[in-house]
Amino acid sequence: MQLSLDNKHTKIVATIGPASREPATLRAMIRAGMNVARINFSHGDQQTHGEAIRNIRRIAEEEGTVVAILCDIQGPKIRIGDLREESLILESGDSITLTLDDVPGEKGRVSLPHPEFLRDIKAGVTLLLDDGNLQFQVAAADARQLVCEVVIGGALKSRKGVSAPNAKLTLSAITEKDRADIEFALEQNCDYIAMSFVRSAEDIAEMKQLMARQNKYAAIIAKIEMGEALENIEDIIEVCDGIMVARGDLGIETPAEEVPYHQKRIIKLCNDAAKPVITATQMLESMTENPRPTRAEASDVYNAILDGTDAIMLSAESASGSFPVRAVEVMSQIASIAERDLQDNSVRVPRIDDAKPNTGRNLVSDAISRATFEISQLLNPKAIVTTSLSGYTTRLVAKERPRNPILCMTPSATTQRRMALVWGVTPLHVAEFSTIDEMIGIIIRAAHERNLVALGDRLVIIAGVPFGIDGQTNLIKIHIVGEEGEI
Ligand code: PEP
Repeated sequence: MQLSLDNKHTKIVATIGPASREPATLRAMIRAGMNVARINFSHGDQQTHGEAIRNIRRIAEEEGTVVAILCDIQGPKIRIGDLREESLILESGDSITLTLDDVPGEKGRVSLPHPEFLRDIKAGVTLLLDDGNLQFQVAAADARQLVCEVVIGGALKSRKGVSAPNAKLTLSAITEKDRADIEFALEQNCDYIAMSFVRSAEDIAEMKQLMARQNKYAAIIAKIEMGEALENIEDIIEVCDGIMVARGDLGIETPAEEVPYHQKRIIKLCNDAAKPVITATQMLESMTENPRPTRAEASDVYNAILDGTDAIMLSAESASGSFPVRAVEVMSQIASIAERDLQDNSVRVPRIDDAKPNTGRNLVSDAISRATFEISQLLNPKAIVTTSLSGYTTRLVAKERPRNPILCMTPSATTQRRMALVWGVTPLHVAEFSTIDEMIGIIIRAAHERNLVALGDRLVIIAGVPFGIDGQTNLIKIHIVGEEGEI
């Protein structure tokens, strides 16, 4: 596979599972446009995950590209225990006790092995089970059991999730299982860790402390799926490296009809803050079983791109569905169409024209990235080239959503992989440089060797001088490939 600047701008995150673990499938998904592989620690074991990570990295390298590894940590997901039979039919008005006791669930009594959750639940609280398909009202509560009345009945199966949208929970955002999985993910040198059920900036601080203790770091994606996280969203965005709009649980914790509003607001806040944002869950859900998406799903993917999302995500579609490669292809096709329409100005452009200067951040860098957008509108360069150590400059340029590709040239392999998630960015690993002349030589030769640029192409180059200092962007150079004899 030839690295190309003609790729779609929107990035695709695909969850890897039994349907997609085979090397041939992974290769086909990478060729179809997968930029980030999501390893879901709610399922599977560490050995299987480790093997998938090794295969993805090896195949990406063989294909001449980078695929970032995103390890999604389960978090404090509350689940009932196992049932005696395959399912338990509950009718509205039934009484059922959720107990700490390790009993096989049956009519009247089901185990709920989460003492820390029971501690927070009081009489009067509403419980939603199995993604909100069943609803209980807690009639009486103590530290060992919740006596509930069934409000909306249905068939309850083993290990289904339980949530309490209107209760204030004090559970730690990181469970014992999570600690072991985070340690494992960091040992695998993963690029992103996605943290489930984040409620506040303090939860992210806890994750950072854990990483500091291990002296190993990954970028942190906060999954927004709780009402409390919506209240604290600005603070969370400030301290994390990216956001996932986790619409599955968000649509249980808040009314499903409010999810589109939250999606749009979160994306806008992330765009303003130049932090990558992933729109997740049920984007092409029917493709779990069918080779074609529904019209509503095609619209959902297209509209998320118009909202300004950096990345769109596949869950069951690629992890356990029948058409994992096709699902990536369909996402790529929809992304290309949405981006074409954005460029044609035939649909609303989500560029943040009215963005306020980022108070507290580097105003010079901000001015440079805005100017880069204007220059590229006028000059239509072959690419905008950012030389970026931490990825900060690149994210600032991407935030402006220029129509030209962004080529991120970085001496950091970590930054190169992280940039795979950022809208419009083709990341490339290059040698270190210390002078402007050296920089020009290294980046032009690197791009030329890979056939990304040709003699006479116009580039807009963005850098921070002196080199090697994070977050300092202060130089724009309009460069014609070959004009300084660099190739
Ligand atoms: C979600 O709830 O939308 C989500 C992405 O989280 P998970 O799939 O881990 O439940």
